[in-house]
Amino acid sequence: MRALTYHGPFDVRVSDIADPGLFDAEGAVVAVRACGICGSDLHIYEGHGFSPELGYCVGHEAVGEVIEVGSAVSRSRVGDVVLVSASTGCNTCGPCRAGYVLGCERNRSGCYGLGPMLPGSQAQYVSVPSADGNLIPLPEGISDDAAVVLTDNAPTAWYGARRARIQPGDVVAVVGLGPVGIMAVQSAFILGAGRVLGIDLVPERRAAAAAFGAEPIEGDPKVVVRELTKGRGADVVIEAVGADATIDLSLKIAARGARVSVVGVNQSAQFPMHMQLAQFQELEFAIGLCSVQRELPALLALTRSGRLRPEAVVTHHLPLSEGTEAYARFHARENGVGKIVLDPSR
Ligand code: NAD
Ligand code: ZN
Ligand code: ZN
Repeated sequence: MRALTYHGPFDVRVSDIADPGLFDAEGAVVAVRACGICGSDLHIYEGHGFSPELGYCVGHEAVGEVIEVGSAVSRSRVGDVVLVSASTGCNTCGPCRAGYVLGCERNRSGCYGLGPMLPGSQAQYVSVPSADGNLIPLPEGISDDAAVVLTDNAPTAWYGARRARIQPGDVVAVVGLGPVGIMAVQSAFILGAGRVLGIDLVPERRAAAAAFGAEPIEGDPKVVVRELTKGRGADVVIEAVGADATIDLSLKIAARGARVSVVGVNQSAQFPMHMQLAQFQELEFAIGLCSVQRELPALLALTRSGRLRPEAVVTHHLPLSEGTEAYARFHARENGVGKIVLDPSR
């Protein structure tokens, strides 16, 4: 099959690799109809990946059709159109059954395309473990673009916003306005934010956030956020970049008693947090990875009603055969390139 594989920093190739089979009786194989490139794939692309191996298939955001199921699978049938959740679990332990796959008690919490153990979904086919918990039937009325964003970016943003306990009328600052950040802008408004301040280095990304009602911050955010809030700072800060500098910025623009919620994937072993400032400001700090299965019921309902618009972050559609260029363009963040959805059939 055609697939994107990782061969070292800035080297993602279109390769011909073997079609995947079933993991076991609980698994399924999905023919991918559309797949996305995530900011987490860019960490791998830049050489800050999660596995030292090379040559593995990348990607963890896919929607497609089930073409094969194991004998122990009860919820999916061949022909079902499904959303392949980026996060995976065992589907049998208590936390997984509640959708909290990060807390899997059988140590089966994972994600596709971060190494050779669970190959990625930027490919024509993807093999899905524990299909009953890791495949979600795609409800009527949800487009493939929306579904791709619902496999990871939208739930991650929602999870980050949820953990920040946004109160009606709160001033929410979103740091990083990639697909996750724009979904955080949308989530913040749905959860009751009065104002959302959008912070990013790229003017087109600030403009994209403004289209969803965010106030784009021009100039030094540390100064401008204080100016816009009469010196107080933001009640909630959602960090969707994944860098020490932007966590530091998030802490510095936070109001007294603020909640700072980090979903950007950060690979630092240590972070020099200004403890005196955090304590004096009575900050709450949350960081974590999203269990997509837990967030999806609410998000599918919000998407069907039109209140959440995951498809709106998609800016480009490209054939999977142009995957190498797609990675370079998403990484460069130029000319309005935001979320890219790839078509594996081309
Ligand atoms: P992205 O790379 O498109 O977005 C990052 C944005 O941050 C870009 O728009 C970039 O211009 C901006 N940025 C970079 N440095 C900045 C700075 N100093 N100040 C302000 N803005 C800055 O990626 P994305 O797909 O939106 O993902 C965002 C983050 O979320 C990534 O770190 C990704 O790994 C992470 N993520 C986490 C989870 C989770 O479960 N926690 C899931 C999916 C993605
Ligand atoms: Zn991701
Ligand atoms: Zn489990």
